[in-house]
Amino acid sequence: MEILEKLFSLKNKTVLITGGARGIGKTVGEHLAAAGANIVIFDINGESAEQTAKEIAQNYDCKTFSLQVDVTDYDAVKKALEDSVKQMGSIELLFNNAGIVIQKPVIETSPEEWLKVIDVNLNGVFYVAQLFGKYLIENGIKGSIVNTASMSGIIVNYPQLQASYNTSKAGVTQLTKSLAYEWAEQGIRVNCISPGYIFTELTSFVREDWRKQWAELTPMKRLGKPEELVGAVIYLLSDSASFVTGSEFVIDGGFTII
Ligand code: NDP
Repeated sequence: MEILEKLFSLKNKTVLITGGARGIGKTVGEHLAAAGANIVIFDINGESAEQTAKEIAQNYDCKTFSLQVDVTDYDAVKKALEDSVKQMGSIELLFNNAGIVIQKPVIETSPEEWLKVIDVNLNGVFYVAQLFGKYLIENGIKGSIVNTASMSGIIVNYPQLQASYNTSKAGVTQLTKSLAYEWAEQGIRVNCISPGYIFTELTSFVREDWRKQWAELTPMKRLGKPEELVGAVIYLLSDSASFVTGSEFVIDGGFTII
């Protein structure tokens, strides 16, 4: 087990997780804490973020901190990052994960709905990454960032129509590569995960016949679980991935290979 600890331990590291109150962010947060990290959660749902942070601190004997933050509010993110650094000492790692979906045909999508999805999924990811990267560079910290993109940035989902989401996620992948290039020499690695269909609160509201269809369309004939994304995030955040930057890790039960 010594080798695993050497490769993947996150001891003495702090990870900032956006959208960490529930779903993928919460599950990944629990496992990052189990791997030794301290955890900071930014989520638009402050109460739920606080509850999750408390649970993680109790269950994994680590330090946690949470704040109610809307990632589309640049000044709020800036202030929250400053407060978190004061609270935790330093932050080296980011899981930039908050996201929303609106499922509507293009013809029925209002400008407000389009902007909302782009604002949370793309602008929010940019704001958090930019401010975090700036903090790392100014303090000479070599960090690692994992953005949550989606297989929807590669393929077009069906039967549900969600052009705004698909477009925002393609943007996240390209932003990941752009940041990876810009910050490579400063020792800041930037990668993304692109999950396929994962069963969380985000997808639980969807019509059951569609969820059945999603499983049928996936070569592995099922939806994924948030736990099945954890290993990739730990790997990309850890020193094991010290030569990995600008990569997209597709975790989709084979959906995008056909
Ligand atoms: P959930 O809806 O379960 O969790 C997302 C969390 O982000 C929620 O706590 C939500 O708060 C929070 N959030 C929403 N908007 C903001 C905001 N503006 N600022 C801060 N926090 C916000 O989603 P998942 O865990 O399923 O998804 C996490 C990420 O994974 C997303 O980026 C999603 O697009 C991506 N993804 C998910 C897939 C899936 O099948 N589930 C597949 C591929 C990618 P609240 O509860 O109040 O809305």
